[in-house]
Amino acid sequence: MAQESGMVACLRRLVELESPSHNKAALDTLGRHLAGEFGKIGGRTRFHPQQHAGDHLQVDFPGSGKPILILGHMDTVWDLGTLASMPFRVAKGRAYGPGSFDMKAGIVQAIYAIRALEEFGGRLPRGITVLLVSDEEIGSHSSRPITEALAKKSAAVLVIEPSQGPKGALKTSRKGVGAYHVKVEGREAHSGLDSDQGASAILELARQLLVIEKFSDRERGVTVNPGVVRGGRRTNVVAGEATAEVDARVSKAKDIPYLDRKFRFLKPFDKRCRVEITGGIGRPPMERTKEVVALYTLARRLAHELGWELEEASVGGGSDGNFTAALGIPTLDGLGAVGEGAHARHESVVIAEMPRRAALLARLIETIP
Ligand SMILES: [Zn+2]
Repeated sequence: MAQESGMVACLRRLVELESPSHNKAALDTLGRHLAGEFGKIGGRTRFHPQQHAGDHLQVDFPGSGKPILILGHMDTVWDLGTLASMPFRVAKGRAYGPGSFDMKAGIVQAIYAIRALEEFGGRLPRGITVLLVSDEEIGSHSSRPITEALAKKSAAVLVIEPSQGPKGALKTSRKGVGAYHVKVEGREAHSGLDSDQGASAILELARQLLVIEKFSDRERGVTVNPGVVRGGRRTNVVAGEATAEVDARVSKAKDIPYLDRKFRFLKPFDKRCRVEITGGIGRPPMERTKEVVALYTLARRLAHELGWELEEASVGGGSDGNFTAALGIPTLDGLGAVGEGAHARHESVVIAEMPRRAALLARLIETIP
């Protein structure tokens, strides 16, 4: 119980330091606070300075052998000021607040796991590196090279993203994620006087979207979703331009070029229009490789020893674990908090699960070969 209240207090502080992906100043404030927290338990902290993104925080705990990389992110999808309508609060065994579940409680659990290893063993069983990036929710563009470089030096990567579902399943496969930008250029004209002179970019885009819709192949694990469309400027003008942003996901790495070809080969129905495709799958899928299965099997055994049955799940969302798994580094994801409502206003974590998830993380650090 004492440990739970300490963890909740630590979580409260992190949640109350709001950290939207696009606010460098706010992210850097949280980063400094976290550097202090990890410093208190003996971590050597250093920042990877960024001009626009928040500085990424790396913490090294020296020890023998190849280190374990604990991977997480500081940024949230919530704007500054969200706390006013969605304050940190505890009710019925849950802690609520922006970023609580995704993934500040995971960071708290990592701090407590490392602390426990130090307290019980007198010193750490091996080296540990913690990387907390500032741009995961917006594609990890500035942090990806750092994540990949540290992963290559590590024995395994433990991702402290939220677990899946009420039982807190680990994530052993994740889809690859990206977005295609479809831009159609047509020809503007007065809709009444000389509409036959015009070529509507909006109508052309609508026809393209019906083709794109068919790229989805659920059995294959490929999905596309035109989430945003824009176009035209006035009702009495034949639209000269229209664009769509299409979310795209794949389960298998080999489907990345397959889907890409389909997008690149889109041809205009109306020859007077031009269709331009940019973007693509930026985050490769995390496939359920034998390395992933071996780590999961170990985690399952350790959880069993701690008194619960750990499950696994396959999810559509990507994380930075996708990068490290694609490099062939054994990666296990979903080791963070148990809760619900990531990116939603009821975002919350189950407090009683926090100590035992921290214990599982500690046991994994000790046991991974
Ligand atoms: Zn996350």
